[in-house]
Amino acid sequence: MTYFAKASYYILTMPQLKPYFSLTSVRISKSLRGDNWLLARLDYLWSNYFNNVRQVNPVFIKFGRFSRYRLGSIRFDKLAKHSYITITGMFKDPLIPIQVVDHTIAHELCHYTHGFSSPKPRLHKYPHHGGVIKKELSARGLGHLNKAYQVWLKEYRKSLH
Ligand SMILES: [Zn+2]
Repeated sequence: MTYFAKASYYILTMPQLKPYFSLTSVRISKSLRGDNWLLARLDYLWSNYFNNVRQVNPVFIKFGRFSRYRLGSIRFDKLAKHSYITITGMFKDPLIPIQVVDHTIAHELCHYTHGFSSPKPRLHKYPHHGGVIKKELSARGLGHLNKAYQVWLKEYRKSLH
């Protein structure tokens, strides 16, 4: 009898205490956004907005783990001379606007262009020196991505509290 009482208590309370899945993870598990999709976005951005930036080494892009705070990163493997762009797994969610994903990829591409995590000469002392990324995106005709990101970020920050 004790056993059954415990069992029903478990069934009744567990879903409220700790849901087995959220709507976000359902959308992500059904998402059509994968690493090939990311590569297509990178290719689109590079060939249309960064076409004067020569690719001097292999550049890879992939989704990483689900991260709410680190949306993208670029790292350089000095030995292999490869650059690796990683985008948060959160962006597999189709509710995240495509411009926000593009903004993150283009941001990392700016670092590559400025010689951070790439074999190119460094153009600044620090990767985010004096708003250089935002300026670079605007100068390349990607001001609409800056704008879309700001709009999204304002709402997203509210959802974090
Ligand atoms: Zn950055």
